[in-house]
Amino acid sequence: MSDFEKSELNPVFARPGEATEYSRTKIPAESALPETAYQIVHDEAMLDGNPRQNLATFVGTWMDEYADKLYADAYDKNMIDKDEYPATAAIEARCQVMLADLWNAPDPANTIATSTIGSSEAAMFGGLALKRAWQHRRKAEGKSTEKPNLVLSSAVQVCWEKFCNYFEVEARYVPVSMDHKQMDGFELEKYIDENTIGVVAILGVTYTGTFEPVKKIAEKLDEIEKETGLDIPMHVDGATGAMIAPFTQPDLEWDFRLDRVHSINTSGHKYGLVYPGLGWVVWRSKDVLPEDLIFNVSYLGGSMPTLALNFSRPGAQVLLQYYLFLRLGHDGYRRVQENSIKVATYLAEEISKLAPFEIWAMPGDTPIFAWYMKEGYGKNWTLYDLADRLRMRGWQVPAYPLPADLEDVSLQRIVVRNGVTLDMARALAQDIKNDVEFLETLDGPMPRDKTEGHAFTH
Ligand SMILES: *Cc1c(COP(=O)(O)O)cnc(C)c1O
Repeated sequence: MSDFEKSELNPVFARPGEATEYSRTKIPAESALPETAYQIVHDEAMLDGNPRQNLATFVGTWMDEYADKLYADAYDKNMIDKDEYPATAAIEARCQVMLADLWNAPDPANTIATSTIGSSEAAMFGGLALKRAWQHRRKAEGKSTEKPNLVLSSAVQVCWEKFCNYFEVEARYVPVSMDHKQMDGFELEKYIDENTIGVVAILGVTYTGTFEPVKKIAEKLDEIEKETGLDIPMHVDGATGAMIAPFTQPDLEWDFRLDRVHSINTSGHKYGLVYPGLGWVVWRSKDVLPEDLIFNVSYLGGSMPTLALNFSRPGAQVLLQYYLFLRLGHDGYRRVQENSIKVATYLAEEISKLAPFEIWAMPGDTPIFAWYMKEGYGKNWTLYDLADRLRMRGWQVPAYPLPADLEDVSLQRIVVRNGVTLDMARALAQDIKNDVEFLETLDGPMPRDKTEGHAFTH
């Protein structure tokens, strides 16, 4: 028996390789047994936080075992290979029409949409379409296309800062304040001019979980149009809310029922309830998406329009989204989202009973909420210390400052998702209570490791 063969008989952790230290900078010169490599990688990844206790992320951390089975069946499918995987391509198209219908497009079959790797890529396209359409209008009028601007709240997700930076559009941020905790149309006219390509409204502000009043903003834009003649379109960033509102607040008009809303994005991997790697963007009709953004790929001998920054991308997530549409149905999505809101409301109520805390906005629009410290509390500690204490029990509940103009206010936030049960919430509420009691009894400042970063997906 060769040494190599004998190594298979070695006890785990004593096999050749498992006792050695691997270089972190060079690919090893020799091969290893799969068991060895697996054990090494598995053990290192074990040091990550536990995804189910990650209350920082919006992204799906639980799917049922049929979804896991479907994932395993399909992890080798490349979404771009429409010709080779026409069934997956057809399912993608079906999901797009279903979303257009869910968001009340006037004629769902006449919409245009694409799946993406997440809301960020989807937002890039929402923004690009607004920019290109504006350029076409301006060129047709013989006017300059040099200085496009986009109007958005200062509490936008970082993907919009990226869009403006990468695609050279001036970002005009409407500040949030204690009187206008989110963009609501107040003084919007100050930010808008002939170079405004559009206004982005957020359905589910990342920092606080609340919905911006899309209809009110659209009505303000109607007034602005009456006064100035400027017809400004809107994009709704529904990364979280576009997969919640249709089920929990069907009468809330935030979607294609408003003529100004040209496009909507969502994250299939947030409240679409799919594992990470899926976003969607839908345009209200084909004519609002400039044709010169579309590429045609070969598909069953014909050609299929595509819109994507990526070329290759996993196809499995699209199948998982379709699985959930069938498995849950409208009623199932409603029950799942309402249950998450119920768990979040329980947590918010428990936290509001603790003397030092004030809830920024109760959960309701989304199962997301944040709180801040009242004046006179936290003499020797901050929300960052509470985040560190909770981390000791595995809970990841980040604290972070608000955006510009309110940056002196720190918030701590909980994102409840499918899979955070009332039982888990009870355990977390008890841990928060115990930790606050401990921190309040400190008679000197809490020593803190300043080098450690705080996880925050915003
Ligand atoms: C999470 C989020 C994004 C980014 O979404 P990804 O799917 O992570 O790329 C954009 N906008 C808002 C409002 C978000 O909450």
